[in-house]
Amino acid sequence: MNMKPLLITIDGPAGAGKTTVSRMLADRLGFVYVDTGALYRGVAFEAAARGLAPDDEEALGALSAGLDLRFEHTESGVRLFSGERDITGSIRTPEITMLASAISARPVVRQALLDVQKRLGAKKAAVFEGRDMGTVVFPDADVKFFLIADLKARAMRRFLEYRDAGAPRFETVLEDMEKRDANDSSRAVAPLKPAGDAVIIDSTDLSPEAVVEKMVALIRSLPESSR
Ligand code: C5P
Repeated sequence: MNMKPLLITIDGPAGAGKTTVSRMLADRLGFVYVDTGALYRGVAFEAAARGLAPDDEEALGALSAGLDLRFEHTESGVRLFSGERDITGSIRTPEITMLASAISARPVVRQALLDVQKRLGAKKAAVFEGRDMGTVVFPDADVKFFLIADLKARAMRRFLEYRDAGAPRFETVLEDMEKRDANDSSRAVAPLKPAGDAVIIDSTDLSPEAVVEKMVALIRSLPESSR
């Protein structure tokens, strides 16, 4: 599709299909894909490596302000680096997942990552995936989507992903997801919620391809001056 460099945001709870759909949409439009959850996971990984408590605001502030988290395009895809270290393979464990949710409620952490994200979005032509992309980080985004799905469907998707890696019971995945949804939606700073101008898509009974088709149709329907 021939279009000007738009900034597109995709927010929503865990397991709603954001990552798959954001990647596919970015490919289709020739835009870059930015996984902002990976940045929170990067901070969580470094906090765990230093044994920091998730409620130690002061230590987390110093840590996140001093970190050098970068995405690098390599032959094996986009990798997350912390300083010189490629941490991509270490940030998706259940422990880091829950810790990322806990530390993401800390205003100092969000503030430090706000600047990183705004810099990444400066050139547009990007699809940003996260929880507060359309509400806080890019309130002026050109197109905003909020992806939802039933809790059980979301937990089942995550369970099947984990199972390949030999991991927990379905009930554990479901409980962790419920806990994470509650954390993410109830925190005081940048809680998970759709922006007023976001288009909400329920992916419970839709394939990723069908979701992307809906998104592309909506982008195509924008007035020509804005796409
Ligand atoms: O998207 P992902 O599941 O990788 O995100 C990990 C955690 O990071 C989420 O549970 C959420 O607490 C936090 N997060 C956030 N804001 C974002 C992206 C992720 O608070 N923009």
